[in-house]
Amino acid sequence: MDHPTIEKRARDKRQPPQLQKYEALRKSFSWAQVEKELDWVPGGGLNIAHECIDRHCEGKRGDVTAMVWVGKNGEEERYTYEQMRVEINKCANALTSLGMRKGDRVFVFLDRLPETYFTILGTLKAGGVVGPLFSAFGPDPVRDRLQDSGATILVTTPELRKRIAAILPQCAELQHIVIVNKLGRSKEPLVQGDVPYDALVAKASAEFTATTTRDDYSIMHYTSGTTGKPKGAVHRHNSVLQQYVTGKWCLDLRPDDIYWCTADPGWVTGTSYGMIAPWSNGVTQLVYEGGFKATVWYELIAKYKVTVWYTAPTAIRMMMKIGVEAAKRRDTKSLRFIASVGEPLNPEGIFFGQEAFDLPFHDNWWQTETGGIMVANYAEAPIKPGSMGRPIPGVEVAIVDDKGKTVSPGTVGNLAVKPGWPSMFQTYWRNEAMYKSKFKDGWYITGDRAHMDADGYFWFVGRADDVINTAGHLVGPFEVESALVEHPAVAEAGVIGKPDPIAMEVVKAFVSLREGYEPTEELRRELLRFARGKLSAGVAPREIDFLPSLPKTRSGKIMRRLLKARELGLPEGDTSTLEED
Ligand code: ATP
Ligand code: MG
Repeated sequence: MDHPTIEKRARDKRQPPQLQKYEALRKSFSWAQVEKELDWVPGGGLNIAHECIDRHCEGKRGDVTAMVWVGKNGEEERYTYEQMRVEINKCANALTSLGMRKGDRVFVFLDRLPETYFTILGTLKAGGVVGPLFSAFGPDPVRDRLQDSGATILVTTPELRKRIAAILPQCAELQHIVIVNKLGRSKEPLVQGDVPYDALVAKASAEFTATTTRDDYSIMHYTSGTTGKPKGAVHRHNSVLQQYVTGKWCLDLRPDDIYWCTADPGWVTGTSYGMIAPWSNGVTQLVYEGGFKATVWYELIAKYKVTVWYTAPTAIRMMMKIGVEAAKRRDTKSLRFIASVGEPLNPEGIFFGQEAFDLPFHDNWWQTETGGIMVANYAEAPIKPGSMGRPIPGVEVAIVDDKGKTVSPGTVGNLAVKPGWPSMFQTYWRNEAMYKSKFKDGWYITGDRAHMDADGYFWFVGRADDVINTAGHLVGPFEVESALVEHPAVAEAGVIGKPDPIAMEVVKAFVSLREGYEPTEELRRELLRFARGKLSAGVAPREIDFLPSLPKTRSGKIMRRLLKARELGLPEGDTSTLEED
């Protein structure tokens, strides 16, 4: 298969990229080189919070702004690296004073507030295992995660506490509830027995020396729940090696960048690349409390002169929905490098980036379990639209068959990784059997299907669970969805296999429309024709239904299993991460 590459424009190349000579680096690279670039803690330990913050302080770059926080009501707070160091140390001491010991689970159920970042890094500094929870969760997902993890401390806000009050007595291991009342926004009285965050940290010392080792557990993230019940993937402090170096290689970060990652810390992107990668690279990071609204986002990029932006296909498709002009109305010329993760990035998304920002989105692939970016498009390298790029130096990624044997280029199979990469998950919490089941013949099987081309670029086909078997052909939903979103009327598309007595399954698509288009019978027929023109006969959808929007996880992933369950009238399964309209 021959895939065209796209020309990057000159603005991309103002500065030499952080990763150059990919092939040569891949050959010569060893993780020992990155180990030398980190600071380590006395006695040879490793601590994520120390590598993010402390190592930039001590007379070096302590007065550089680490975080610019923009609140949902337009508030703004700025923290230097030195101020962050103090806040994080105070929090580490405060949690320790509550009785937190190494390995105890501290769960953070907060909006994107400065205190969210202090608490996550404070827990890590003190050796606790931190579990970030997305603040839009209702009581049930919070209870499931608190019970499963056996969390002893919960840090939350007055409103969120009220939302989940009924389930708290069911969390037997929970000992303390710490309340963050940001800027006194809430008038709710403190519940008896709860601990106010401000008072707790006010009396804590500003010094704390980390004692963790590289193998100590750090963060546990529940997966997005796209394919089933979320699993608690457990990481360790060693992950910072990979998060740091991929921040450089795959996001092209340098210390003078103004960086914005739009992911919430409730998902792994929001911690690995919304905290650890940027701060270990010493950048200034924008944190925006509010949610997605394209025009507000453009405004933020313009106002704060964001240079590097890491976002997701779901947001890009929403931006496409309102059109290029809205982006062009704002001055986004500060942007130097833009990237995307979380779902396959349709080629249309890359072209949109070129038009709207004069830059292509660089897609990269990874998952909660990998902890860090594994496959990426790099600043220096050509992009082939629709490809996730090439593996980072220092990891081995391959396509293997169901027995774990590598297949030849062009053949679709399981996307697999050789175990041992630095940010590899260590287990699924209280589910070692499921963890073990992910390995086959010396490979970690990611659950995604893909193929690799002759240049070593990887192409996503679909999740193993979503692949459609129609008349003997295996069809990946991504190919069909990408063809559909090329039509000007289509904002997003989700494709499933619908059982069929003859073909086993037929391809069925659900689409939502861009502004200004109506779901008519005529449009349906046009889309069926359009898809047949782009795809081979067996692959093109047989049926298309219109939906106002597609069911998605709160991290923005299309839930094809739900489209299928609804189509077939089957039980919906775990919907704890479903985004409600
Ligand atoms: P669950 O494991 O609970 O079903 P999930 O797999 O969606 O949920 P995450 O770990 O948040 O949970 O998501 C990782 C998955 O997202 C990947 O395995 C892949 O399917 C998809 N993904 C991430 N980035 C990309 C990308 N660049 N291209 C294609 N797919 C991607
Ligand atoms: Mg998964």
